[in-house]
Amino acid sequence: MMIENIVCTGCSLLCNDVDVEVQASSIKRTRGACSHGDSRLKGFQQNRLRRPLIDGTPTDIDKAIEATTERLKSAKAPLIYGGECSSNRTIELALKLAERLEAYYDAPPSICRVVIPIQEELEIKSFSLDEVLDEADFIIYWGVSAADTHLRHASRYAVMPRGSVVKMGRESRIVATIDARESMTMKISQHKILIDPCFDTRIAKAIADLVDGYSPSLDDVTARQIAILVSDLKRASFVALFLGSNILRCNYCGETVRGILESVRRLSARYKCSVHPMAENVNSYGQAKIMWKTLKTCSPYSFKEKKSAEPLHVLVARQAIDFVLAINSDVLTQIPLEASRSLRMKLACTTELRSITQENSVIAMPIKILGVEAGGVVTRTDGVNVDLKPFITNDEVPSEEEVLSRLLASI
Ligand code: SF4
Repeated sequence: MMIENIVCTGCSLLCNDVDVEVQASSIKRTRGACSHGDSRLKGFQQNRLRRPLIDGTPTDIDKAIEATTERLKSAKAPLIYGGECSSNRTIELALKLAERLEAYYDAPPSICRVVIPIQEELEIKSFSLDEVLDEADFIIYWGVSAADTHLRHASRYAVMPRGSVVKMGRESRIVATIDARESMTMKISQHKILIDPCFDTRIAKAIADLVDGYSPSLDDVTARQIAILVSDLKRASFVALFLGSNILRCNYCGETVRGILESVRRLSARYKCSVHPMAENVNSYGQAKIMWKTLKTCSPYSFKEKKSAEPLHVLVARQAIDFVLAINSDVLTQIPLEASRSLRMKLACTTELRSITQENSVIAMPIKILGVEAGGVVTRTDGVNVDLKPFITNDEVPSEEEVLSRLLASI
């Protein structure tokens, strides 16, 4: 059976124009998906955990929830971790659970967690991707290769399509890519600026200075490249800036993003500007947004001390955490191997697929695949909420929202 216009959960673009052919609870064929979406959708039945496990022994979900409840209740310093691959409702439940347990809460690093607080503070706007499609005539990819990470970003929204204002599509748009290394996206860019790592703020300031008529102090080659870029920029009316996770490689990424956004604020006096973090996982944006709205911070958080906590690898290294509930998130891959050893068998997890974290968990709870077997709202990389509808029935495992609701009710 062919099902049309499902939402692909292969990345945070959440393309809603993908068709799938379903046979016997599997997806045999996709139409319209990129290679990432195709492998997410066609591969969702592979590498799955079919039954809950306690100490490696198959059990049922009631016993797994009961065992997780006991371990969380008896822990002195538990951590609830994840949300980037979960629905918004699950993230809210995870935060409530962490609050009730006076636990730590954290999720994987994300450019969204850096950009959203600074963007709000500096009151810099973000228009939807549909508005970018219609109107944006100057596209900047900064610290991201969308051609490698968000495969349909250029073709569906930002570069190729014809919009109501940008009527000629690709021919009416200028594309600039700024990054510390060569990328595939540079191949479709008129302007390719390779910068030294952590040099971003100076480049952003140089662009704003030149637009305002000041001479930037840069080396000759970069100054010439920026001058050519700015001569194109001066003819534009709507600038859309996409910030990617390569910026996180800089130790001072918060200061870097602040520097870039302060320059965008100066550009906003002349142009319509829109800033977007390129969310790394399907709901990295929702995770950061909900955390910011709830806690007014996107840093690791201690509900016991009611303030931001140390980074996860520091907490783990000094053994400040004695039990972790990972919410469909591979927490063990986020910390150094040596530190991660101390967490083994102090873990419980919900999980769509088998993972390193699941293999080292004392309790593992399989869940329905979000956007295929389970519905829920997630947030697209431009901040627009998207309602996912399940299209394959699976009564063998619960949804993640159900598991979190039951855990919350039992604590
Ligand atoms: S770009 Fe992302 S959402 Fe769109 S089809 Fe590819 S993986 Fe799916």
